[in-house]
Amino acid sequence: MEVSAPKINLLDLDKKGCEDLVVALGFKAFHGRNLFKWIHKQGVVDFEAMTDISRALRKRLGDETEILLPQLIDAQPSADGTRKWIMELADGQRVETVLIPEGRRATVCVSSQVGCSLDCSFCATARQGFNRNLSVGEIAGQVWHATRELGEAPSNVVLMGMGEPLANFDAVVTAMDIIQDDLAYMLSKHRVTLSTSGVVPNIYRLREVSDVSLAVSLHAPDNALRDQLVPINRKYPLEALLPACSAFIDGDKRRRITWEYVMIDGVNDSIDHAKRLVRLLEGIPSKLNLIPFNPFPGSDFRTSTPVQMERFRQRVLRSGIVATTRKTRGNEIAAACGQLVGMVRDRSRRTATRRCSVGAVEL
Ligand code: SAH
Repeated sequence: MEVSAPKINLLDLDKKGCEDLVVALGFKAFHGRNLFKWIHKQGVVDFEAMTDISRALRKRLGDETEILLPQLIDAQPSADGTRKWIMELADGQRVETVLIPEGRRATVCVSSQVGCSLDCSFCATARQGFNRNLSVGEIAGQVWHATRELGEAPSNVVLMGMGEPLANFDAVVTAMDIIQDDLAYMLSKHRVTLSTSGVVPNIYRLREVSDVSLAVSLHAPDNALRDQLVPINRKYPLEALLPACSAFIDGDKRRRITWEYVMIDGVNDSIDHAKRLVRLLEGIPSKLNLIPFNPFPGSDFRTSTPVQMERFRQRVLRSGIVATTRKTRGNEIAAACGQLVGMVRDRSRRTATRRCSVGAVEL
């Protein structure tokens, strides 16, 4: 019996990949560009509807490739307009994507892994464990769905959903290239933001291959506290992280690092923390984004009071660093920062990836 090779998922290919594929099938490269445009810009996933592609090529594509999207199995609306989508992947794993309307358009918050292996002590995704990386198609597919839903490409894409994007480097970079491509979603470098907890070597690598904006989950002004909150700090402490971030924006005067700082009552939210934070960031073009801690079942942390958050923010502002407080969106549907959990089917792989995660709270 002949075993047929698995079909290529065209969603895994960027523009160049589509061109190369079409050339390998014996056709001209520009058909590859058309194919890419049909899929991402027009949202067409039926080869027969791709009218400017020859019948012969359509037949080959149908025989040897497929366009496999994540399946949108549930959409939960929130009172503030935020929508959380549950996406089911081909192997039954589930991840979450969040659509945050802003005026007429919207920001899409995209997941990059099934679960997460980093074990930050204040994050619900960490409790789910880690199963696997998402493929290019599974990442770009979330933006594909959002675009169809909105009727146009989103205004911003943030890699701030489930997972650590820099731990899934190649797929994330290719997916971001697709998101930025003029024949696809056309987002500029200012409108695509990758958030990392600080996988230092890959911050340097990112700078070589991509011009997206960088957000860094800082959450503490010193190593002792950051070791507790963001355990990857034990591997890549602040003295390694900060130079990598400076290097990332080096030479571009208009660029800044966005520092995310979750405000946890009595843990990292004092004026003394604010002062030390300001000293730490001295010399790095910075924007500080304070995120009220979003509670989730099983967590002992509490959100800082609004008064404390504002005091902290004012102290940072006084030193000349732009500081904003992120509005919590979609809280009642557990779609806010750090509340995404999806459905991780096999958590066993977590143990193999936990070397840098000592001491985090366990359920
Ligand atoms: N792993 C990447 C991408 C996740 S982005 C990173 O760590 O940057 C999600 C952001 O929400 C991160 O800044 C994360 O630290 C923050 N976050 C996680 N749990 C949270 C919670 N319970 N409340 C508020 N913010 C949280």
